[in-house]
Amino acid sequence: MNILVTGGAGYIGSIVAEELIRQGDAVVVFDNLYYGHRAAVHPDATFVEGDLADRAAVKAVFDAHEIEAVMHFASYTLVGESMEQPFKYLGDNVTNGLNLLQEAVAHGVRRFILSSTANLFDDPERMPIDEEERIVPGSPYGESKNILERILHWLDRVYGFRYAALRYFNAAGASPTGERGEDHDPETHLIPRVLQVALGRREKIVIFGDDYPTRDGTCVRDYIHVTDLAQAHILALRALDEGSRTYNLGNGQGFTVKEVIETCREVTGHPIPAEVGPRRPGDPAVLVASSEKIRRELGWEPRYPDLRTIIGHAWEWHRTHPNGYGD
Ligand code: UDP
Repeated sequence: MNILVTGGAGYIGSIVAEELIRQGDAVVVFDNLYYGHRAAVHPDATFVEGDLADRAAVKAVFDAHEIEAVMHFASYTLVGESMEQPFKYLGDNVTNGLNLLQEAVAHGVRRFILSSTANLFDDPERMPIDEEERIVPGSPYGESKNILERILHWLDRVYGFRYAALRYFNAAGASPTGERGEDHDPETHLIPRVLQVALGRREKIVIFGDDYPTRDGTCVRDYIHVTDLAQAHILALRALDEGSRTYNLGNGQGFTVKEVIETCREVTGHPIPAEVGPRRPGDPAVLVASSEKIRRELGWEPRYPDLRTIIGHAWEWHRTHPNGYGD
C-alpha cells in the first residue's frame, strides 16, 4: 500500500515508517522538520518537506502520489506547553489535521490512522483504562486529539471514511534495529531524561512529586515499546476496511517513576542521582491502559512488554547516539 506518514521524521512516525517499509509498504513522509530529523527518515521512503498548515503543499502531496492510506503523527505534543499556549493546540493541531483530512477526502482516500493519547483520561474511574472510560481531556493537547477523534467519527458517518484512533500511553524505547530512537529538543520525557544522566549530559533527575497515592508516592505510568506501537498501527491499518475503531494502547502494567529510575540504574550501571522536586501540574497519579480490545479484535500482542527491555533498547540508542540525530 502507498502510505502517507505525516511526522514521519519524528520519534514514533519514523519507527512506524521503518516497520511499514520492512513489511513491504511504500511510504511518503511529510514533515516540516521543526521537531523531526531528516536523518530519521528511512532511506527507502519518499521524503517531502512541508507543513500541514500549508494546504497547497498538502494537496500537492496527494496530487503527486497515489496515496491509499494516511498515518497522522505530525502534531504538537507537549501537555505542559498546551496549558501555556492553548491556541497552538486547539488551533494548529486541529486546523492542520483538517487540512490533511480535507485533502484526503478530496483525493478519495478513505483510510486514516490518528495518533491519539492517554491525555483523554484526566479523571479515570477505572484502572486499567479501557475504551469505555469517560473522555475528560487533561489539557488543550488532549482536547485537540479529542476534537480530531470527533471529526473522524463524523467523516466516517458522512463519507464512509475508515479510521483508527490509537491512544498511546507512554511510548518508550527505540527501534530494535538501533537505527531510530527518541531525540526531542527540549526533552521532557522521563526515560530519555534519566538516560541523559547516565550519559553525563544531565547532573541528576528530578522526580516530579513523591506524595501521590501510589505504592512509593511517585506517579505510575504504562510504558509501551515504540515497536509494539508500530505493530498496532499496522494491524489497525489492515483491519480498517472492516470498520473504524478506537484502541487504548499500553502494556497493562504500571511502573512508578522511582521504579523506572531504578531499572535505568540496573540497565546502565550508572548510579543516576535523583532528587524529589514539586509535582508537575497536570500529572494524574496513575495511568495504565487496558489493551484487551486490540488484543481481542486484532490479535495484537506486545513483543517487548518488559520494562528492562524497553529501557535497554532506549539505552542502546542513546549510548550510540549521544547527540541524537546530530542535527
Ligand atoms: N517525570 C519526572 N521527572 C522528569 C520527567 C518526568 O518525575 O524529569 C515524571 C512525570 O511527572 C510523569 C512520568 O515521569 O509522572 C512520565 O512523564 P513523561 O513526561 O515521560 O510522560 P507523560 O506521562 O507526561 O506522558
